[in-house]
Amino acid sequence: MPTVDQSPASIQVLTDREDQVWTKGSGKQFACDRKSTAGSVTQRACAFCGSRVVLYPIADALHIVHGPIGCAVYNWDIRGAQSSGPQLHRNSFSTDLAEKEVVFGGEKKLQASLLELIRYYRPKAAFVYSTCIVGLIGDDVEAVCKTVSRETGIDVIPVDSPGFKGTKKTGYEAACKAAYRLVGTGDTSGISRYSINLLGEFNIAGEAWLIRRYFEQIGIQVVSTITGDGRVDDLRRCHGASLNLVQCSGSMTHLAQLLERDHQIPSHRVSFFGFEDTARALYAAAEFFGDPEIMRKAQELVRSEIATYAPQLKAYKQRLKGKKAALYVGGAFKAFSLVLALRSLGMQTVLAGTQTGNAEDYEQLKAICDPGTVIVDDSNPLELAKFVLEKDVDLFIGGVKERPIAYKLGVAFCDHNHERKIPLAGFEGMLHFAREVAESALSPVWQFAPRRAMRHHQLSTNGGEA
Ligand code: SF4
Repeated sequence: MPTVDQSPASIQVLTDREDQVWTKGSGKQFACDRKSTAGSVTQRACAFCGSRVVLYPIADALHIVHGPIGCAVYNWDIRGAQSSGPQLHRNSFSTDLAEKEVVFGGEKKLQASLLELIRYYRPKAAFVYSTCIVGLIGDDVEAVCKTVSRETGIDVIPVDSPGFKGTKKTGYEAACKAAYRLVGTGDTSGISRYSINLLGEFNIAGEAWLIRRYFEQIGIQVVSTITGDGRVDDLRRCHGASLNLVQCSGSMTHLAQLLERDHQIPSHRVSFFGFEDTARALYAAAEFFGDPEIMRKAQELVRSEIATYAPQLKAYKQRLKGKKAALYVGGAFKAFSLVLALRSLGMQTVLAGTQTGNAEDYEQLKAICDPGTVIVDDSNPLELAKFVLEKDVDLFIGGVKERPIAYKLGVAFCDHNHERKIPLAGFEGMLHFAREVAESALSPVWQFAPRRAMRHHQLSTNGGEA
């Protein structure tokens, strides 16, 4: 009976994607920031999903997906973004378009749905997401939103996000444009000159609350977190803040640019993953305000947090030393932080990739990775599997779509995406991260996975040499 070659070498990278796969030290050209190759089965979500997940955490707004029910279900409550109050965002309302609307149009159904939902839930604002079907049948969503807005007295905002419109990044931009319609419509009185907005912090497992506490502790007011425990009224007045700190730059750069263009608010890219990056973010804000007292408090906070958590991290580092990790995440800034955080745990990143990185991001990623690291842009499951096996990784870090790849290959997995339930940001989060990584990568269960079992077998039959 013919046998199937299941070795990693048998998995070919698609010809059209060859320049989106790069090995440090190879000297090859690297391409990124382009539409997914047809047939590649990209790990990326569609443009609609991009905009839906960015606006999702605005908890007191109504979110309605104008399209077939499948689009709404696809990303229903998929983020662990917590709200300290309203939970309206966790619903996935849909106009449930079917054949009738495809033939005769869906505007009437959208209008009726909006009126019914707004009267019932009394939201602070409403976002209407266009999906592929709406892009095709050409409903005038903007006009329906205007009519309903007039009738109900609340802002009803179209999000121009048909799935086919571009990449997930296109959806991010549509979300920023939609959110920006609310900016500048609120009262900014009472906002300190030492104030920031946190952009692209999604309050997964309550991380924004942790970060907000750091800033409040050093004397900086957080006006809005927009994408984490977000509120419509905060968004309306966020133009009163002095500085924007952008964590998920892929999703929020456009909004930061609009705030800089129209309200002269500078922005700074930060990350709150790992000791180094969290400290750097706090110092960057303190430096911006130029107040010695804020800087003193920031240094004190960093010192005290590191003194609390560093000893426990050291214990994990001893156990994890020499382990190899693969990571595939949405945005590039998270990838940088993860490479550094893993290094601080004694681990080496041998495969790193992102869904939405741009050329500048990848230059930075290439610079911090070790020689031999494979870097992939907009990858697919087969490619990821190939390199996970080739590099013989001990741990795969990614999100919900990478988890089955890891488990099928018998590799430990750590969820660092929006579905996770444990806060991984900040100083305390770094300890949670180390614990997650250690518990997963060092679990005895992996020795029974076929891949490892094979290695054990080879070791014993070859007298110790695999
Ligand atoms: S918007 Fe289009 S691509 Fe996105 S989930 Fe709906 S049908 Fe699929």
